[in-house]
Amino acid sequence: MIPFNKPFLIGSEIKYIEDAVRSGKISGNGKYTKMCQQFFEHEYGFKKALLTSSCTDALEMAAILADIKEGDEVIIPSYTFVSTALAFVRQGAKIVFADSYSDNPNMDATKIEALITPKTKAIVPVHYAGIACDMDLIMDLANKYNLLVIEDAAQAIDSFYTGKEGVKKALGSIGHLAAFSFHETKNIISGEGGMLTINDDRFVERAEIIWEKGTNRSQFFRGEVDKYGWVDTGSSFLPSEVTAAFLWAQVENIQTIQTKRKQLWEYYYEKMSAVASEVAIYLPQIPEYATNNGHMFFINFESLEQRTKVIQKLKEKDILAVFHYISLHSSPYYQDKHDGRVLENSDKFTDTLLRLPLFYELNEKEIDRIIECFK
Ligand SMILES: *Cc1c(COP(=O)(O)O)cnc(C)c1O
Repeated sequence: MIPFNKPFLIGSEIKYIEDAVRSGKISGNGKYTKMCQQFFEHEYGFKKALLTSSCTDALEMAAILADIKEGDEVIIPSYTFVSTALAFVRQGAKIVFADSYSDNPNMDATKIEALITPKTKAIVPVHYAGIACDMDLIMDLANKYNLLVIEDAAQAIDSFYTGKEGVKKALGSIGHLAAFSFHETKNIISGEGGMLTINDDRFVERAEIIWEKGTNRSQFFRGEVDKYGWVDTGSSFLPSEVTAAFLWAQVENIQTIQTKRKQLWEYYYEKMSAVASEVAIYLPQIPEYATNNGHMFFINFESLEQRTKVIQKLKEKDILAVFHYISLHSSPYYQDKHDGRVLENSDKFTDTLLRLPLFYELNEKEIDRIIECFK
C-alpha cells in the first residue's frame, strides 16, 4: 500500500526529546524553541519568529494582532483550508472570498482590487502547494489602501518569490505577518506545530505578549521589566519543548528533506508529462516569480467524474490519492454569509484537483507504480 502521507524521523528527534526532558524543562520557550526560531529568522529573513502549537494558532495570533473587529472585512481565497478563514471569523470579520486563477489555485491577485471597500482590513494570500502568490501586486494594493497582508504560508517553508526589483524573498518574509505549519503532512514536521513570523516592527512586542497568555513574561525573563503580569489579551499559543525538540531535528536537516522532496516532485512531473500529453490531465503551472518547494504534487482533470474514477482505480491498486479543499464560500458554515458571487475557478479546483502521494520516504519505484496505473 502506498499511503498519501507518512510521518518520518530524519535524525536526532528522539535524542533531542530525551535531552529536553533530562535537562529539566519541557514546557514552552526553552532551548529548542529558541534554536528553531533563530534558525528561521537567520535563514529566511523573518524579523521575528515565534513557534506555535499549529498554523491555526499562528493565524489566530495574526488576527488578534491585526486588531480585526466585528464588521471588518478580510479578503481570502475560497480555495483554502478552514483555518485561514476561521481565525478572522472568530474576531467577528466578514470574509470576502476571492477566486483562484484559472490555471493555478492561488488567489487571482488581478481581481482583488475590485473586492476592497472602506471596511477592508487585511488580505490573506495562501501560497498553495508552496507556490508563491503574486506578492508585488498584493503588497502594492496593501500600500495603496493601507491594508495588512497576512500570508498563510502553511505549505510554503523554504519557498521563495522574486519580485519586480529582482530580489528573491522567502515566503513568510513579505507580508506584515505570516503563518507556517509543521503538521505531519507538511515538509518539515513536529506532529502538530506552527510558527508566526512578524516582519513589521509594530507587532513584535505585542506578539510575544499574546503568545504568553497576555503576560509580559518574555520581557521579564530578558530583564526588561522587574515584574510580570497580565497586560493584554492572549492565549497559550506556544508549543512544548518536546514538540520543539522534534522540530529542531527536522530543521537541522531541512536541506536534505527539501532536496529529496524536490527530486521526487521532478520525477513525478517528468513521468506524468508523458501521460498528460495523451489524455486530459493538467500539470501544475509554476509562475516565473515563484519557486517550487516540493510540498505537493497535484494534477487536474476535466471533470469530477474523471477524478472520482481515478481515485477509485488507484485505491483498487492500494494507492491513496486524495482531493483537497471544498470551496469555503459554499461550506455549510459560511454559505449563508457569502455575498453570492460565483467563484468558478475555486469550484473547478474543488471538483478536479487530485493530490498524489508525496512524502520523504517515498521512492521512484513507487512513483513508477503510480504512473503505471495512469497509463
Ligand atoms: C495545513 C494548513 C493549515 C493548518 O495548519 P495546522 O498547523 O494544522 O493548523 C492552514 N492553512 C493551510 C493552507 C494549510 O495547508
